[in-house]
Amino acid sequence: QDSFGIEEALKQLGIQEVNEGTSTGNNWFSNGDIIESYSPATGKLIAKVKSSTKEDYEAVVSKATEAFKTWRMVPAPKRGEIVRQIGDALREKKDALGKLVSYEMGKSLQEGLGEVQEMIDICDFAVGLSRQLYGYTMHSERPQHRMYEQYHPLGVVGIISAFNFPVAVWSWNSMLAWVCGDVAVWKPSSKTPICAVACQNIINEVFKKNDIPEGVSCIVTGNASGDLINNDKRMPLVSFTGSTRIGRHVSKTVAERFGNTILELGGNNAIIVSEHADLSMVLVGAVFGAVGTAGQRCTSTRRLIVHESVYDKTIATLKSAYAQLKIGNPLDANNHVGPLIDTKAVQDYLNAIEKAKKEGGNIIVEGGVLEGEGYESGCYVKPCIIEAKNEFEIVQEETFAPILYVLKYSTIEEAIEIQNGVPQGLSSSIFTNNVREMELFLSQAGSDCGIANVNIGTSGAEIGGAFGGEKETGGGRESGSDAWRAYMRRQTNTINYGTELPLAQGIKFDF
Ligand code: NAD
Repeated sequence: QDSFGIEEALKQLGIQEVNEGTSTGNNWFSNGDIIESYSPATGKLIAKVKSSTKEDYEAVVSKATEAFKTWRMVPAPKRGEIVRQIGDALREKKDALGKLVSYEMGKSLQEGLGEVQEMIDICDFAVGLSRQLYGYTMHSERPQHRMYEQYHPLGVVGIISAFNFPVAVWSWNSMLAWVCGDVAVWKPSSKTPICAVACQNIINEVFKKNDIPEGVSCIVTGNASGDLINNDKRMPLVSFTGSTRIGRHVSKTVAERFGNTILELGGNNAIIVSEHADLSMVLVGAVFGAVGTAGQRCTSTRRLIVHESVYDKTIATLKSAYAQLKIGNPLDANNHVGPLIDTKAVQDYLNAIEKAKKEGGNIIVEGGVLEGEGYESGCYVKPCIIEAKNEFEIVQEETFAPILYVLKYSTIEEAIEIQNGVPQGLSSSIFTNNVREMELFLSQAGSDCGIANVNIGTSGAEIGGAFGGEKETGGGRESGSDAWRAYMRRQTNTINYGTELPLAQGIKFDF
């Protein structure tokens, strides 16, 4: 592992053998069980983190609640200035943090660095936003009255994140929350806790330099903290990224106490390959979409819906591309595909292939688990392609692994129906040079997803556009556009600068 400079990266990020997993800022403490984090790349122990007890959690939320009173009074552009400094600190640590993301999560180093770049990009976005938290003004029907709306900070925001984007998703939430005047309590995935400790170490230095009180950026670890957040009335907003199964539970629990949620849940994303597609472009989009991050992106391409006239050709091209894929240590730039997160994910992958076969699926590129030198972690699998039908139970589910289902269609209307015919609604795409097809796909009769692309794949997103999906993907939007509104409360204000008190709708109330 040293040959890839991991030890040095851990040192730069302030990671120790055993780390406290609860933090209110500079103050680290933890009294809970130990979480051991193993690299899926090598199977080796990276470091340990102590999880938060109920008492630790209490200490964090009290501190955060207290800090909110100060932080909300810091002018938004000044909060933006601190986020600007965080962006700079991330630029300095980009190599080390990108490496850790790759080592702890298993995505390729390029993707690990890309994830940190996304953090930097959201910082830049948030800095600009800190001067643009606009509300409307309205014309009052009453004379000498002024009416407008303004946005105020919400309070303590709970952020619960998934393992597959161990740092970026938190930053999408926290950078916006901070410029909006909220304070953040982050519960990272227990599969990638070291990345979270590293982020908090970076943030702490910036907050400390600016004399910001403890509690603006907090961490709690361990699964029990998730339910404490769901039930915590002091948290008006919970931003949850993860599976639809757990998201459903979070959604119900938070709604029960009238809290708000931002839900970023599972996807079942498809690319439509039209007879008018440029097939050389399809290849990059589909293969990266299906095997990038070993199929563990919420936007990974899971279904390829191919026109019958280009079906055989597309399959042949895919087969030859898959034959050239190099699978191995994600820190080695020669490899295209890294490991799955753990051996449970490997089992889910194997089960899905079995189920697809039982339902009548036809294997086009064989899957399987890799063994031997370099594959000691037991988490490396072969990306596989299965000819299937959209109505197969397994095709309707999200399996977080590099399995691509190929489906055939005859008309564009049928392709759109197949694309929409799943419970999830995150990302979708069409490859076509036909303007009618393209516009139909983007129209209200087209894709029902939160993301609909033309001539690029389903996978990946850019800061700037609101990110999220419909149906069982949860309906949340994060990161770009006006997603910031979810982190603030709206207030409508009417001011009377006259000497009379006319009532609205002309109501008379004389006495
Ligand atoms: P997961 O649902 O298993 O875990 C997500 C988080 O929830 C983790 O931090 C986990 O510890 C926590 N958690 C567990 N039980 C909880 C509870 N009772 N209350 C509150 N939190 C609890 O998901 P995962 O395996 O880490 O991530 C993969 C899933 O995330 C996939 O379904 C993927 O599509 C989805 N995802 C979606 C997006 C998106 O933006 N739509 C982005 C990334 C990942």
